[in-house]
Amino acid sequence: MINSTHKLNEAKKRLEPVDCTCIFCGKGQVDNPQDNIYVSLYREIKREDTILHKKVTYKQIKVGLTRCPKCKQMHRKEKTKAILFAIPITLLVVFVSYGIAVEFLSKMGGFFLVGTIGIIVPILSYFIIYHGLEKKLYETEHILPEKEAAIQYGIVKELIDNGWSFNAPVA
Ligand SMILES: [Zn+2]
Repeated sequence: MINSTHKLNEAKKRLEPVDCTCIFCGKGQVDNPQDNIYVSLYREIKREDTILHKKVTYKQIKVGLTRCPKCKQMHRKEKTKAILFAIPITLLVVFVSYGIAVEFLSKMGGFFLVGTIGIIVPILSYFIIYHGLEKKLYETEHILPEKEAAIQYGIVKELIDNGWSFNAPVA
């Protein structure tokens, strides 16, 4: 099922692109294969669901998305920006929630709440901000967001049509 755009690297369990045109801008050429992005796809093989145990067996493969140096640089810039925005947001939320926590909860409860917030808020705000920046990048530079580019990519589309998915199956 591998089409002419990729070749299988068995050792690394991945499909490496043969083509050199960047799929994010559609114009640039791949300069260094290290700049390519790999997305993981999964396919369920077997599912056991008995009273005693639940188990799912699946296959996983990585597919290379070609990326030119300009798009790599743009993605990196937006990721850095997203981190820089997420830090003050996290600090503010942790600070405010700590104030509320010490007011209303026990010391342990407060620590737990602030700890949980301190883990969730940076991750969530990073993803939301990065998603927004990717959208803007598309509007101004016509560089596709990572997920969008993957979905539109011929070989990924083909795999999805054949039962593969971006999400690992859960038992
Ligand atoms: Zn590009």
